[in-house]
Amino acid sequence: MIPGPIEFEPAVLAAMAQPTTSHVAPDFVECFGRALDQMREVFLCPDGQPFAVAGSGTLAMDMAASNLVEPGDRVLVVNSGYFSDRFVDIFTRYGAKVKSLSAPLGEAPTAEQVRAALAKEDYRLLAVTHVDTSTGAATDVRGMAAAAREAGALSVVDGVCATAGEEMRQSDWGVDVYLTASQKAISVPPGLALLVASPRALERFRGRRTPVASYYSDWSLWLPIMEAYQERRAAYFATPPVNLVAALEVSLGQILAEGMEARFRRHRLLSEMCKAAMGALGLQLVAKPGFEAATLTAPYYPAGVDASLLGHVGKAGVILAGGLHPEIKSRYFRIGHMGPNTPGDVITTVGAIESGLAAAGYRFEPGAGVAAAQGVLLDRAA
Ligand SMILES: *Cc1c(COP(=O)(O)O)cnc(C)c1O
Repeated sequence: MIPGPIEFEPAVLAAMAQPTTSHVAPDFVECFGRALDQMREVFLCPDGQPFAVAGSGTLAMDMAASNLVEPGDRVLVVNSGYFSDRFVDIFTRYGAKVKSLSAPLGEAPTAEQVRAALAKEDYRLLAVTHVDTSTGAATDVRGMAAAAREAGALSVVDGVCATAGEEMRQSDWGVDVYLTASQKAISVPPGLALLVASPRALERFRGRRTPVASYYSDWSLWLPIMEAYQERRAAYFATPPVNLVAALEVSLGQILAEGMEARFRRHRLLSEMCKAAMGALGLQLVAKPGFEAATLTAPYYPAGVDASLLGHVGKAGVILAGGLHPEIKSRYFRIGHMGPNTPGDVITTVGAIESGLAAAGYRFEPGAGVAAAQGVLLDRAA
């Protein structure tokens, strides 16, 4: 139960175990083409251009930055934590003049603050982290994408810990690039950088005055490949990770079979169950009210308990993640609840956390967390 890599469905893992075909074999061409079509449905972006490339989420961030900014362009980064800092580094590397708009720990800047900041300079691009995996704080992507449109800036959203879990509607919200990685809510083992670009983003790319500085990320090289597979033709620039693409096709099929609305609802339910349980056990959350993500929960250790809690919880059968945000790293932990997770998984996790807290000598009413999680579930069912 960590915020990625998550635990994967057996059918997804079985797809990875199939014999590797040629990347130009007719059945793989069909499989890759279908996966790209399904990406548009999962991102709710029917007119978007999908890219699926071997690499991690950081490559998807690199792709967005290297293709969409030119030296001297002004970029505003909505900074909500660890991965927003990475955006600052990447955009700076490609020569952008980057300004970072920050918020207190556990919060994110609001759409109003972003609108005011965008009015101050002639920004070409707004970069947002949908869910900062270091704090569990979610940003108002919809409001920010609207503010970017008004200001004539492109919006790029890092959805690595959000896409296919947190509510997101790329076309309706007017987001120009949504990017993610396979190992989080998309529910495929690590190794795929995934990105959907709007027609506006491709127009900006086509109007570049300077070449893309990164060779491997360059859309001039990747666009013909993605278009070919979408048209069910084989094409080659760099060998696609055949088995991962096969797994992606299975997972996206499962996601669409559940339905995006049902999936958003389930993730919200898992999150509310988990957060209610932590509250009932007396644990404070890093994310402030109004900013809580649906895909993960990040509680502070209670008084007298430290990171050794995670070892005790592990002995009770559940793996959790430690802190990531440098300012509070040793004071909190993280619980991922995304992808195939069920309400039963959350209840099991809360039970294991109670066992761990007891082993760590923390005093609380046994079962209080489990009862709170169950209470949310039964309320929802009623
Ligand atoms: C995990 C994560 C990343 C980095 O993804 P990698 O696959 O590790 O490169 C970037 N942004 C967010 C929000 C993440 O959660």
